[in-house]
Amino acid sequence: MLSVDLHSHSTRPDGLIAPGELAARAAAQGVKTFALTDHDELGGLEEARAQAEARGMRFIDGVEISVSWTHDTLHIVGLNIDPHHAALMEGLRGVRAGREVRAQKIAADLERVGVADALAGARKYARNPELVSRAHFARYLVEQGRASSTDAVFRRYLSQGNPGYVDHQWATLAQALGWITSAGGVAVIAHPGRYKLNQQQREQMLGEFRDLGGTGVEVVTGSHTQAEYATWARYAQRYGLHASAGSDYHGPGESWLELGKLPDLPQGLTAVWTNF
Ligand code: AMP
Ligand code: MN
Ligand code: MN
Ligand code: MN
Repeated sequence: MLSVDLHSHSTRPDGLIAPGELAARAAAQGVKTFALTDHDELGGLEEARAQAEARGMRFIDGVEISVSWTHDTLHIVGLNIDPHHAALMEGLRGVRAGREVRAQKIAADLERVGVADALAGARKYARNPELVSRAHFARYLVEQGRASSTDAVFRRYLSQGNPGYVDHQWATLAQALGWITSAGGVAVIAHPGRYKLNQQQREQMLGEFRDLGGTGVEVVTGSHTQAEYATWARYAQRYGLHASAGSDYHGPGESWLELGKLPDLPQGLTAVWTNF
């Protein structure tokens, strides 16, 4: 079992546990090196760091940036960033502003399939008014009886091709890597197995990411199967990328993996945490 967890979420975006409480939970689960990587948001880092350090845990400032790349949304994790870096803060402010416009469009789209007041409904679940996520819409749709779990909601709504999915322009890959690296951080492709990319598109993504100064790829994540650990270990080796590991924990009942319950990296990889 790894004592490292470099991908997790607090209530600042769409997790269920406040930043300080999340850090305490990670420590209780035996995590020794921990990163909070909230979506497009740095506001939880200070509180998480204080609680992490009070428990003797090493804390890594992180973020998970939403990126539009070709026809897909990619998530790029920044680790060991300076959370006070102006370009990073300003860039993320822009991404969050775009979320507000998208949330209105999602609500309008859901209205067409008979879901009333979805924006107000989603907002009830958003602890941070600047950050309405599809996860908040999903909780509202569960509340409305549209599906029995948020996972089931995503299969019928909110995902590409379904009601409540709207095209959106997030940051570009170049912007996200620029913000992360200028803030002193290392960039990692989050849960690469989740993107609907063919082999050629995967290689294009990895090549562009590396050429733009990217460092690592998540090999061990709650989103990957055992077979995908091996697949992405091979890609990491082929592209000279370091391997990261993170649960992507969002809270009880909304995560595939518990904090700190990550298996070891496959053999022969350089761990991304050797960079900090
Ligand atoms: P957004 O960044 O607003 O597009 O929302 C993406 C978030 O929705 C993710 O970070 C997860 O928290 C959540 N999410 C995405 N897919 C699923 C799924 N299949 N089941 C449950 N939650 C999901
Ligand atoms: Mn999320
Ligand atoms: Mn993600
Ligand atoms: Mn995540």
